[in-house]
Amino acid sequence: MSLLSDSDDLREDLTALRRALHREPEIGLDLPRTQEKVLAALDGLPLEITLGRALTSVTAVLRGGRPGPAVLLRGDMDALPVREETGLDYAASGGAMHACGHDLHTAGLVGAARLLAARREALAGDVVFMFQPGEEGLGGAKLMIDEGVLDAARTRVIGAYALHVFSNTLPRGIAVSRPGPILAASDQVSVVVRGRGGHGSSPHTAKDPVPALCAMVTALQTMVTRDLDAMDPAVVTVGRLRAGSAGNVIPDTAEFVATVRSFSEDAHRRVRAGIERVVRGIADAHGVGVEIDYDEMYPVTVNDAAEAAFALDAAGELLGAGRVFTAPRPVAGSEDFAFVLNEVPGAFLGLGACPPDIDPATAPMNHSAHARFDDAVLPDAAALLADLAVRRLSRASETPTNADAGTTTGASAGAATDGATKAGADAGRAA
Ligand SMILES: [Zn+2]
Repeated sequence: MSLLSDSDDLREDLTALRRALHREPEIGLDLPRTQEKVLAALDGLPLEITLGRALTSVTAVLRGGRPGPAVLLRGDMDALPVREETGLDYAASGGAMHACGHDLHTAGLVGAARLLAARREALAGDVVFMFQPGEEGLGGAKLMIDEGVLDAARTRVIGAYALHVFSNTLPRGIAVSRPGPILAASDQVSVVVRGRGGHGSSPHTAKDPVPALCAMVTALQTMVTRDLDAMDPAVVTVGRLRAGSAGNVIPDTAEFVATVRSFSEDAHRRVRAGIERVVRGIADAHGVGVEIDYDEMYPVTVNDAAEAAFALDAAGELLGAGRVFTAPRPVAGSEDFAFVLNEVPGAFLGLGACPPDIDPATAPMNHSAHARFDDAVLPDAAALLADLAVRRLSRASETPTNADAGTTTGASAGAATDGATKAGADAGRAA
């Protein structure tokens, strides 16, 4: 039977699992109820399971019936601190919500595990299933790497794949990916301007931090347009300002917090250096002190060129060419799957999950309290993940190379799998 029709047989189970996860969302690195549900759903499958120590992750290894390398499939499991307003009958009622669709990723990965377990004898190698907490800002992927997920099959995985659903923009069932950068690097910068407070009527007797802070906020936008290549941009958004307590009081301090997005190492370096230079320069000009706390959160998510081409081809064959597209450019969201792709070659794919009764162009986007994800895409998500594993392992067994034999580790492995695409892969990484 084909993967798609087998996956369709799982529809009811996967939908039930997704809705159970949706009803009971958990935030952060500690997702005990979610972990329980995943373990229950995997129960009875021939998997070697290890649980995380620093986080409630589940790593499951399926041993193929034939020898070969290992590949990794990842699903993140955490929710967001958002109060759900979708009105769905399985909506969450507390202050947490699966507003980024990670409940679908978890259920989709369980589906892939079931599909692959049923094909175990034919598999030429092993599959690592990475059920990951803490994607939303906590770098759960990094913690799982530190705990050995990439070597869980006792050999470094040769390819890693993740699928992310979107509640808007993409029509339902449409899959996208692209070679090179697909998601932005994400940093957070917190700035405290230190002046000297006083009476609002007599600013000359004080050191007002507020005008300095205002000058910084606007100068940062100018810096972005003057320091960065228009074709390799960055985003600096000051989302939080705090200063003072009354209109006639000059405060001692004023603060802002900004998010910073960039799509290349070069832009990442430039924007960080530019922010620090502009903020310090303006503080000097105003005669106030400044503290800058620059936190590099997630790197750019970079798809290996050869792996992205492989994943797009595989998705096209599975779902039909009309449902699979190369994304023309990256999007400014970010992902801690970036840490995985910094270690091993692989690809991150998007899948449209906008319900059919809303226009994807105007649908509430991921992270919105109104975001809705259609779980009709679950069988496709499960089949696509399983298919990537099957094809990647069989390709490795047909044309074994050093990298595919698992003897090469690190980011160079992807480039080495195919000499013809090495330059492209390297360019993708460097970009
Ligand atoms: Zn997400």
